[in-house]
Amino acid sequence: MIQFKNVTKKYGDKIAVDDLSFDIKEGEIFVLIGPSGCGKTTTLKMINRLIPLTSGYIYFKERPISEYPVYEMRWDIGYVLQQIALFPHMSIKENIAQVPLMKKWTDSDIDDRIDELLTMVGMEPEQFKNRKPKELSGGQQQRVGVVRALAADPPVILMDEPFSALDPISREKLQDDLIELQKTIKKTIVFVTHDIQEALKLGDRICLLKEGHAEQIGTPEAFLTMPENDFVKDFIGDLDTHRMQQLTIGDIADSHPAGNNTDYPDYPIVPDDTQIQVAFQHLSEHDGIIVNGEDDNKKILKSQDVFRYLADRQGGAER
Ligand code: ADP
Ligand code: MG
Repeated sequence: MIQFKNVTKKYGDKIAVDDLSFDIKEGEIFVLIGPSGCGKTTTLKMINRLIPLTSGYIYFKERPISEYPVYEMRWDIGYVLQQIALFPHMSIKENIAQVPLMKKWTDSDIDDRIDELLTMVGMEPEQFKNRKPKELSGGQQQRVGVVRALAADPPVILMDEPFSALDPISREKLQDDLIELQKTIKKTIVFVTHDIQEALKLGDRICLLKEGHAEQIGTPEAFLTMPENDFVKDFIGDLDTHRMQQLTIGDIADSHPAGNNTDYPDYPIVPDDTQIQVAFQHLSEHDGIIVNGEDDNKKILKSQDVFRYLADRQGGAER
């Protein structure tokens, strides 16, 4: 869907993005993570041509982005910022309607779309659509930011630390909402964060940047089980505590709602007292496992279930 080929960006002599190559697949959440100043925002903004590249190529749907008119890139790629950038004098409805209006949608199509999207993120349209941004909480404003990016149904959404200004509870709620929402909308999402828990929780794949180049690109499983170098190890270090070593796969299965679908014949069956580290081995080879508990009760855990559990529980004893 989006392909980087040896992309470099210099600001004067300063190299902000250094020979970056990757391939973002349609429908995945691709997380860009790394310390402050490592080039995340620059990488994101090059995708929709807010920042020009110095060398290399970026392809969008197999065509170089330079072949698309700039306005088309902006309209076909939704963008959500950390600092809620709603227009303060406009109603929520007017804020969301901006791109659909530019694309000359009819009023009734726009109205329907706004109602549909607000409902999807748990905001009653009649209650919220005529309010001004300042009449909403930070979390609600950020939800509107997400809705606005989705309004014209773009195939790609760029999100630059969209939840990092929120308190931890709103933040976790919006992460959960995004995971739920993504099951319906199935967009290609490029998500920037500096928080490894958020990356492990949301990412189908993660790209860890350091000084503009990629240290590792891979699934959450791969980051936890096969960090490619010491920088990666240090970056995920907080998570890899003895707490995790004491966890069994049964602990995670216990907190997971029982499904009635046992239709995954190729998943390995593991006893519920299996160490989480051992379960990782299975999860690096399969999309999920079947946990065998008391009385032979079986529960399916997909690898995302395991990583989301870990991301939610790890780091900070008070959580
Ligand atoms: P991140 O989003 O990961 O914090 P950025 O992409 O914003 O990083 O910045 C990467 C590097 O490029 C940083 O060292 C930053 O200081 C530098 N940089 C960003 N924007 C500019 C600019 N407009 N002019 C000069 N240097 C910049
Ligand atoms: Mg940034």
